[in-house]
Amino acid sequence: MEAAAQFFVESPDVVYGPEAIEAQYEYRTTRVSREGGVLKVHPTSTRFTFRTARQVPRLGVMLVGWGGNNGSTLTAAVLANRLRLSWPTRSGRKEANYYGSLTQAGTVSLGLDAEGQEVFVPFSALLPMVAPNDLVFDGWDISSLNLAEAMRRAKVLDWGLQEQLWPHMEALRPRPSVYIPEFIAANQSARADNLIPGSRAQQLEQIRRDIRDFRSSAGLDKVIVLWTANTERFCEVIPGLNDTAENLLRTIELGLEVSPSTLFAVASILEGCAFLNGSPQNTLVPGALELAWQRRVFVGGDDFKSGQTKVKSVLVDFLIGSGLKTMSIVSYNHLGNNDGENLSAPLQFRSKEVSKSNVVDDMVQSNPVLYTPGEEPDHCVVIKYVPYVGDSKRALDEYTSELMLGGTNTLVLHNTCEDSLLAAPIMLDLALLTELCQRVSFCTDMDPEPQTFHPVLSLLSFLFKAPLVPPGSPVVNALFRQRSCIENILRACVGLPPQNHMLLEHKME
Ligand code: NAD
Repeated sequence: MEAAAQFFVESPDVVYGPEAIEAQYEYRTTRVSREGGVLKVHPTSTRFTFRTARQVPRLGVMLVGWGGNNGSTLTAAVLANRLRLSWPTRSGRKEANYYGSLTQAGTVSLGLDAEGQEVFVPFSALLPMVAPNDLVFDGWDISSLNLAEAMRRAKVLDWGLQEQLWPHMEALRPRPSVYIPEFIAANQSARADNLIPGSRAQQLEQIRRDIRDFRSSAGLDKVIVLWTANTERFCEVIPGLNDTAENLLRTIELGLEVSPSTLFAVASILEGCAFLNGSPQNTLVPGALELAWQRRVFVGGDDFKSGQTKVKSVLVDFLIGSGLKTMSIVSYNHLGNNDGENLSAPLQFRSKEVSKSNVVDDMVQSNPVLYTPGEEPDHCVVIKYVPYVGDSKRALDEYTSELMLGGTNTLVLHNTCEDSLLAAPIMLDLALLTELCQRVSFCTDMDPEPQTFHPVLSLLSFLFKAPLVPPGSPVVNALFRQRSCIENILRACVGLPPQNHMLLEHKME
């Protein structure tokens, strides 16, 4: 494969202008109606014009929870790649890379060459995207440790790498943050020594000032804010409190109950910065979603889809997609990092349990041959805190499915890996894809007024355990459907048809 190969689409439907790539695209799909017990399927076709601005901005990413395992690992990963670091380990020298990132280490097929072989390019070559090595980081943490000390506390990276990164990370210091003890586990209180004082309204103003300060002092065109701080408990959605944008803003003004993560979401939206929620709690309450919609600012969530859930969203899709009736899914986790300690408290565990448990719903509902309405597999999730294993998370899963004629199939899986090394490339993809989506606009033959994607950026579903989608839109959890969505939308932006895998060229005589 030609790595980082540039390509051009030679077609009258695609124009590469100095400022934008414009592509005419025929969106072919179907509409289904029910008439007297019969399903009628109507093929439809809509002509879209996609416009993608080519100028890649100087992008800043602000991490809430910057000094945590994910925050320090992502910062270290980008520095290590930018500095082209390599370091010795007991199994040989390792070099910095972006394994685990869809945009940086995933590929797409452009089609067949003259020999009938597929030609692949990196995902990042599909459209102009910010290069990860050019990202600028900043952020907040309730813990005052600088990023070098935070990296050491996280115990994720090899020592040889930590030593080389130390002088580069030492100068990075998280800004003070908002700590409201009742939202995260009591066991986190010891690290809360870096706090924004004042009322909720004053704290909101300080976060907004921080964003503006980062933008101007680092000379940035854009800032994206990503929540990678501890999992909070769910907050109650209460009419009059947080159900509308107006009520939520009044709640903050009056100092009534609002979670720190919602405060960050509101500050980001008011500053026109996309906000992404990497934890499971319901940060994006209806009032925050309405505010994002009013201000046309992208929001995405919830909870990074990194390990066990990712496997689940492949395995259950495979099982049910093959016609097997999965009836029981049992998942145990144990981990020993600070996230694990926070999740050992019941209310924070509950947030995680909820976000992990809806992940197979779409697959079950897709198959009325196997499941009667309302029928679903038993699904149990357990998380335990075991300090000794640190960031090396263990996930044990058991899937039991019914085979034909009374047979039973039980699959058992044991998954071990450094949690933060799975999450960091996902955080990277979230920032890069969100920024790209901000440069895409489109119109249709029915509605010539240019528009952008819906502010609830469901295109990011591949990267989230419990994807947020616009009201009324189906939630897709199946991993390869989610991947196809991103791939095919990016292909549409350069006038390429959806990837159909038919390879008809090879099925003819
Ligand atoms: P961590 O505990 O190492 O880091 C979280 C950081 O957030 C800590 O440094 C803490 O001091 C800080 N913090 C807590 N409350 C804060 C606040 N109000 N403002 C600013 N900072 C605050 O955890 P982690 O392993 O980095 O994970 C971060 C989050 O990502 C967790 O909620 C976790 O559930 C979620 N997540 C992680 C993964 C993964 O694979 N690592 C996957 C999905 C979701």
